[in-house]
Amino acid sequence: MSGSGVDWEEDDPFEEQREEIENPMKRLFLEYGRNYAFQAVVGVFASTFARILDLLPPIMLAVALDAVFRGEAGYAESLPFGGDLVAPYVPATQEGQFYLTVGVIAAAFFLGAAFHWLRNWGFNAFAQNIQHDIRTDTYDKMQRLNMDFFADKQTGEMMSILSNDVNRLERFLNDGMNSLFRMAVMIVGIGVILFAYNWQLALVALLPVPLIAGFTYLFVKIIQPKYAAVRSTVGKVNSRLENNLGGIQVIKSSTTEDYESERVEDVSQDYFDANWDAIETRIKFFPGLRVLAGIGFVVTFLVGGLWVFQGPPGSFTGTLTEGEFVVFILYTQRFIWPMAQFGQIINMYQRARASSARMFGLMDEPSRVAENPNATDLEVTEGRVSYDDVTFGYDDEETIVEDVDFTVAGGETLALVGPTGAGKSTVLKLLLRMYDVDEGAITVDGQDVRNVTLESLRESIGYVSQDTFLFYGTVEENITYGTFGADREDVIEAAKMAEAHEFIENLPDGYDTEVGERGVKLSGGQRQRISIARAILKDPEILVLDEATSDVDTETEMLIQRSIDELAADRTTFAIAHRLSTIKDADQILVLEGGEIVERGGHEALLENGGLYSHLWGVQAGEIDELPQEFIERAQRRQARTDVSTDDDD
Ligand code: ADP
Repeated sequence: MSGSGVDWEEDDPFEEQREEIENPMKRLFLEYGRNYAFQAVVGVFASTFARILDLLPPIMLAVALDAVFRGEAGYAESLPFGGDLVAPYVPATQEGQFYLTVGVIAAAFFLGAAFHWLRNWGFNAFAQNIQHDIRTDTYDKMQRLNMDFFADKQTGEMMSILSNDVNRLERFLNDGMNSLFRMAVMIVGIGVILFAYNWQLALVALLPVPLIAGFTYLFVKIIQPKYAAVRSTVGKVNSRLENNLGGIQVIKSSTTEDYESERVEDVSQDYFDANWDAIETRIKFFPGLRVLAGIGFVVTFLVGGLWVFQGPPGSFTGTLTEGEFVVFILYTQRFIWPMAQFGQIINMYQRARASSARMFGLMDEPSRVAENPNATDLEVTEGRVSYDDVTFGYDDEETIVEDVDFTVAGGETLALVGPTGAGKSTVLKLLLRMYDVDEGAITVDGQDVRNVTLESLRESIGYVSQDTFLFYGTVEENITYGTFGADREDVIEAAKMAEAHEFIENLPDGYDTEVGERGVKLSGGQRQRISIARAILKDPEILVLDEATSDVDTETEMLIQRSIDELAADRTTFAIAHRLSTIKDADQILVLEGGEIVERGGHEALLENGGLYSHLWGVQAGEIDELPQEFIERAQRRQARTDVSTDDDD
C-alpha cells in the first residue's frame, strides 16, 4: 500500500486532533528526542569538531605557502588567529615547520575520520531510536482505536502513517538534521576564518550565500506543488493498475482490453506530463545554481587576485598574501555546494513536520470505548448475560439496535436470527464492547461491561466470526493464538473437536504448515474450523458464534455442529446463523428485524406463531417454495435501504 497518491489533506480522519497540535516538531523532540539526548549531543559535538578539522588543511596550506615555501612571513603569524598561543611550539627551521605542517594535516585527517564516525553514530542512533519508538507507539495506539477506523479507507490511511510518515521523519532526522548542522557549522566556521583573514574580501566571498539561499528557497516553492501533482498522478496510475489486475477476468471476458489500455495510457500520460513539468523546473535549478556560484567564485578570484599582485583594488584597504588568497579560493568552493541542499532540507523539514502532525493526530485520537479508571476484572460465576433495553447507533443519525432486552441464563444458548442488516452482529459487538451502548446496559453476572477491564471481558468471551482471518504462521500458532503456551496435545484435542484434525494432518507439514497469504491456501471451511479450534482451546466462559459455519458445506457443517453443540453445552452461547437448522435447539431464539426484536421463543413456539421465523423456516426446509408476498416486499424495501447506506456491508 503506497498511499502516495492519497491526498490526505482531503480525507484525514485525524484532522481535528491534528489541528490542535501547534508545534509537532517541538513535541517530537520533547517527547521522543529527550530519551536520546546523549546520542544527539554526541552527534552535535562530533559534527562540529569534524567540520572544524575539515577546515584545517587549507589553512595549513596557506601557512606553508607564506611562511615555509616563500619565507615571507612568520609561521605563527600566518595563522588567522591563535598565532600567539602556538608560537612557542613552532620549530625554528623552515624544514621543521614543513614537517609540522604535514603532521598537522595528517592528524586533521585521522582525527576528522574518527569524529565523522562518531557523528554518524550519534545522529543515526538518535534518528533510528526515535523512529522505532514512534512506530511502536503509533501501532500500539492504532490497535486501540475504535473499530470505525478499521473501515477500508482508513486502514490505508493508517498504513500510510505507519510506513510513509515514520520514514519521512527518519529521513529528516537522519539526513536533514545532519546536513543542516553541517551547513551551519561550515558557514559559521568559514565565515569566522575568512573574516579573521580579511573582512573586506570575506564580504565579497560570502555575498552569494544569501543569494543562493533565496534562490533555492524560491525553487522549493515552485517545485513543491509540482511534486504534489506527480504524487497524485502516480497514485492514480497505481490505483488503475491495481484495479485492472484485480478485474482481469472481467476485462478478458468482456474483451475490453483496448478500452482498458487506453484508460491506462490516459493516466500514464497525466503522470508523464506532471513529471515532465517537475523535471523541467528541476533541471534548470542546478545550472542556475552553478551560475550563481560561478559568479561568486569569479568575483572573489578577480578581487583577490588583483589584490595579491597589485595591492588593494578600488576602495579596499589592507594586505592579502598569496596563502590567504588560496584559503579564500578553496573555502568559496566549499560552502557553495552544501548550500544547494538548503532547499531540500527545508523541504524535508516541512514534510517531517506534516508527518509528525499526522502521527500525533492519530496518537491523540480519543478512544470511544474508554477503560473505566475504576474498572475491575470481570468475574464470571454463572455466565448470565442480560441486555437491558439496549439502544445503539454507529453514528448519531441512525439507530441500529433499539430497545433490545433479554436475559440468557448461564450455560444457555441464545440464537439471533433475522435478515441481513437487522443488527444481529451489532448486538454481539456490543457485548464484546467493540462499541458502547447509547442507552441501556449490558451485564455479565450483574457486572456492567463498562465497569470491567476490557481485557478481562474479552478474555472471557470466545468469538468465532464469519470472516476467519489467519495470521502468518503455522497452523498450530493460529490455533494457540491468544492461548499462547498451550501444548500440542491440547491443540490436537481442540482441532479434533473442531473437525479440523484430519485435514491438518494431511497438510504438508501437519500442524507446522505455514498458512496465511504466503503459506498454504486453505479453503473458507478449513479456515473456519481452525478458528473454531482456537475458540475451543481458549475455553471461554461465554461463546459468540457469528455465522460460524457459514462458509462450510452442509456435510462439514453437520460435523462441526456436533462439536459446537458439545462446546456450547456447558457455557453461555450466542449464535447467529442463516441456516436455521443449526440453531433450532437453542434455548431461546430472538428474531430481529430493523434492530428490534420482533419475535422470541423456542423453535416450536415460533413455528406455531406463523411469523417471519416460521416462513423463513418453511423456505429453508423446502416445505414452501416462496415467502408470502408481503415478506418479499418488506425484504426488498430493506435491501434498498441498506444498499444505499452501505455499499460494502455483508
Ligand atoms: P446483521 O448482522 O444482522 O447482518 P449488522 O449488525 O451487521 O447486521 O448491521 C446492522 C446495520 O448496521 C446495517 O445497516 C449495517 O449497514 C450497519 N453497520 C454495520 N457495521 C457498521 C459500522 N461499522 N459503521 C456503520 N454502520 C454499520
